Amino acid sequence: METMSGSCQPHASGRLQGDDCNRDWIWERELETASADETLARAAAVWETQLSRVVERSPFYARRFREAGIGPSGVGLEDIAQLPFTTKDDLKQAIDEEPPFGTNVCVPQGGIKRLYQTSGTAGAPSIIALSSADIKTWTAIGARSYYATGIHDHHSVLTSFGAGPFVAGHTHFVLSRLGVRAVPVAPGDTDRVLFSLRSGLADTFLATASFAQYIANRLGQGDVGSGSPALVHVVTGGEPGGGIPAIRDHIQSALGATVTEVMGIGDVAPSLFGECPQQEGMHFCGTGDVWPELVDLDTREAMTIETGAVGEMVYTTLTREAMPVVRFLGGDIVRIEGTSCPCGRTSFRLRCLGRRDDMFIVRGVNVYPSAILAVVGEFRPRVTGRARVVRQGSGVSVQPPVPIEVEVPEHPADVALAGQLEDAIRSRLTFRSRIELIPESAFGESGYKTRLSVRRE
Ligand SMILES: [Zn+2]
Repeated sequence: METMSGSCQPHASGRLQGDDCNRDWIWERELETASADETLARAAAVWETQLSRVVERSPFYARRFREAGIGPSGVGLEDIAQLPFTTKDDLKQAIDEEPPFGTNVCVPQGGIKRLYQTSGTAGAPSIIALSSADIKTWTAIGARSYYATGIHDHHSVLTSFGAGPFVAGHTHFVLSRLGVRAVPVAPGDTDRVLFSLRSGLADTFLATASFAQYIANRLGQGDVGSGSPALVHVVTGGEPGGGIPAIRDHIQSALGATVTEVMGIGDVAPSLFGECPQQEGMHFCGTGDVWPELVDLDTREAMTIETGAVGEMVYTTLTREAMPVVRFLGGDIVRIEGTSCPCGRTSFRLRCLGRRDDMFIVRGVNVYPSAILAVVGEFRPRVTGRARVVRQGSGVSVQPPVPIEVEVPEHPADVALAGQLEDAIRSRLTFRSRIELIPESAFGESGYKTRLSVRRE
């Protein structure tokens, strides 16, 4: 504990406000507080074994490494940037070569013990296969991530993440592992969430940022907490939002709860990052199982993971058995918020700025839809907080004015609003936009998860 002198007041560092339990606030203290050197040494040793397994058992990777001129002596973890990236399309191709499991399955078919599916938004779904050890690994990483947010076994957790077919369903194993009281509801089941919160069935609520915002718009602070226990904590995941101040502050003040966020990547681990109650970004929680890299958005050259760096995350699974990935381009554009924390965890912290697919360029400047949400959210309650960019064609460049649809409550027309939003976006984000106000009943999807950009011809 001497490393934490000065910040080691009881209950202050890694616990939710008001949580006066005496549990350690770090799930695996030795692993999560290890020095950078210890972490690298541990990962390098595991990587050596993993690389030989992958070359031996994955025809997909064996071929790719051969094509990249990688010799039998392999590549050490420090030189991993010599290996080619893996994209979502590459993994899809591996599946198509030998459906349904593909040429990247590294265990016998009998060793596959759980199958998730992708949403298949861009075609047929693919599958994500887990061995029994993979199931345990995902649960362990998820336990570190969710525990980091402040969830302990004495909490009662209302979760609106479905049981399947998507990887978010793995959260149910994680909640069991943490030993909480779990209160599951179906995704988007507004009535049951409102009932559960009004009745005081839970003190913690897990939801997408959109859904949490939607619930916050419908519940005032007086509405929750009448039962026992009262809601104290909202954990958002599945999309950026919980880290955007205008959204976070709204959920916190409407529900009277602390907001933290989690993030994962389907092909790597569904809960890989968790934000501690310091609320300064999500800690990387995959130490020992996943090797993270940060690369430049344009050149894809390796970048140092340091405070302020903005790039795309790349992941290598060090322990994954059934479907390992090597240098997987996750598509998440992130900003590194720090590399130490008063909570004592030594892993870096980040915020997700958005998906690479959602990013666009206006007159040479990168724009993330999450930045638009941050501006739009300041116009609450005249807006609900949801918005999306309308894109034409497949290009990444957009000519101003950029068409943006903003969701508004079902009130009489607010004639000044569109112009004021356009002015705010122009002054804050320096591009011209054309705002269309869409009433809630017409915006669609009842707030479960919002696509930040839509393509229309
Ligand atoms: Zn922390």
